[in-house]
Amino acid sequence: MAAPPAIPRRGLFIGGGWREPSLGRRLPVVNPATEATIGDIPAATAEDVELAVAAARDAFSRDGGRHWSRAPGGVRAKFLRVIAGKIKDRKSDLALLETLDSGKPLDEASGDMEDVAACFEYYADLAEALDGKQHSPISLPMENFKSYVLKEPIGVVGLITPWNYPLLMATWKVAPALAAGCTAVLKPSELASVTCLELGAICIEIGLPPGVLNIITGLGPEAGGPLASHPHVDKIAFTGSTETGKRIMIAAAQIVKPVSLELGGKSPLIIFDDVVDIDKAVEWAMYGIFVNAGQVCSATSRLLLHEKISKQFLDRLVAWAKNIKVSDPLEEGCRLGSVVSEGQYEKTNKFISTARSEGATILYGGARPQMNWQHLRRGFFIEPTIITDVSTSMQIWREEVFGPVICVKEFRTESEAVELANDTHYGLAGGVISNDPERCERISKAIHSGIVWINCSQPCFVQAPWGGNKRSGFGRELGEWGLDNYLTVKQITKYCSDEPWGWYQPPSKL
Ligand code: NAD
Repeated sequence: MAAPPAIPRRGLFIGGGWREPSLGRRLPVVNPATEATIGDIPAATAEDVELAVAAARDAFSRDGGRHWSRAPGGVRAKFLRVIAGKIKDRKSDLALLETLDSGKPLDEASGDMEDVAACFEYYADLAEALDGKQHSPISLPMENFKSYVLKEPIGVVGLITPWNYPLLMATWKVAPALAAGCTAVLKPSELASVTCLELGAICIEIGLPPGVLNIITGLGPEAGGPLASHPHVDKIAFTGSTETGKRIMIAAAQIVKPVSLELGGKSPLIIFDDVVDIDKAVEWAMYGIFVNAGQVCSATSRLLLHEKISKQFLDRLVAWAKNIKVSDPLEEGCRLGSVVSEGQYEKTNKFISTARSEGATILYGGARPQMNWQHLRRGFFIEPTIITDVSTSMQIWREEVFGPVICVKEFRTESEAVELANDTHYGLAGGVISNDPERCERISKAIHSGIVWINCSQPCFVQAPWGGNKRSGFGRELGEWGLDNYLTVKQITKYCSDEPWGWYQPPSKL
């Protein structure tokens, strides 16, 4: 196993360089797998937000925007590609830092870094393609007018992100925002900011123009709050909990600032009795909830099983769950690390105990991993947990856990399955596993969500739109929709007739 690197001591990344936070305060970085404090990050406050926003404004309009916001897309694409290259060069140390900061298995963190690099490359391509989409003509019913459309960067954007995929969630916003020509202030989660600060180090190394990207770490209300309400921030793109999303909307509403929100979920996965290969379906159900210890917004945390296969399916699910390697996330082959923090650990355990007290059955898991896991005496580890005998009024059915906990219900008919699937305030994702393509098609239309998976759960591609309905938020990230998040559409209409408009009587020439 590689030796863990030291956590680099960084300041706030503002105006192209490091800066100590105005109040001089720092927050501890705790390794959730060991509970040891392994470093610290700066705690920004409103004064630092002022500086970061001013740096981003300056970068947006410097030299009339010639070097960034109005530069050809190819100029920005070059920077994005160099960032992608640096991420690839540093893949193993960034992955290690991500694992130490978040508790996720090293294999997952390595995959995340590949996705980060791919996302920067993808939006580099879209930045270049954007130039070709400018001046697209609009067909008008009057010949004496000509009209076309410009897509312009929306301005200075505030990007507020969560801890579950720290650098990847930040990249889903930073890459398209920069591709569009925006300048940005990123505020990652206080629970996992280390790799986002390393992105600052990469920006210095590659000579990104100062102020194009600024990174301020710190607590939500102290650093994120002033960013969300700042009058000189033109848009907020937020990923996080529904509760915080509501606060962001309220703050932004005061100055009619646009927001896009990627919020929580309680997504269903429906399994029909016609599945040919039960183990294949079981593995997707496991991946849908236990990858990243269930700390995934789109986790398919409600499993709906056709009654005819329910018993057989659950037997296999338990057998597979027992086989998951729960270990120090740095250990080779680890498939379930710790959850991100003590708070998340306690919250998840409380969900499990409430489910038990409400009458559900903990079919498997529900505690700290024991048996062979003597080395896990410390750290915020939770067994993969399967809960049955669930009713629709129970908390475990209704609320997002954001931990390795799945709840299960049986159904008899397709319409009952759809009704149960849609029995949620959320609408991020959903899935169906069946051998009948027509049924899959029907179900994918019937589920009220932004994403539906057929015969799988959780695959995510940078080319495809990502986002939800209902209380899972609005707006779409990734793909061309991700770029549109940071563009504003301008109509240019020209009068091209030699004739006067002729609506008013001209005054007498006398
Ligand atoms: P959170 O809402 O607690 O925090 C998210 C971010 O908001 C953090 O950077 C935090 O510091 C900041 N914040 C907190 N209070 C704030 C305030 N008053 N003003 C401004 N900023 C504030 O969420 P979390 O615990 O970091 O992440 C978990 C949640 O994120 C889950 O609900 C999960 O479903 C959701 N999530 C959604 C997606 C998606 O794509 N839909 C992706 C990942 C996570």
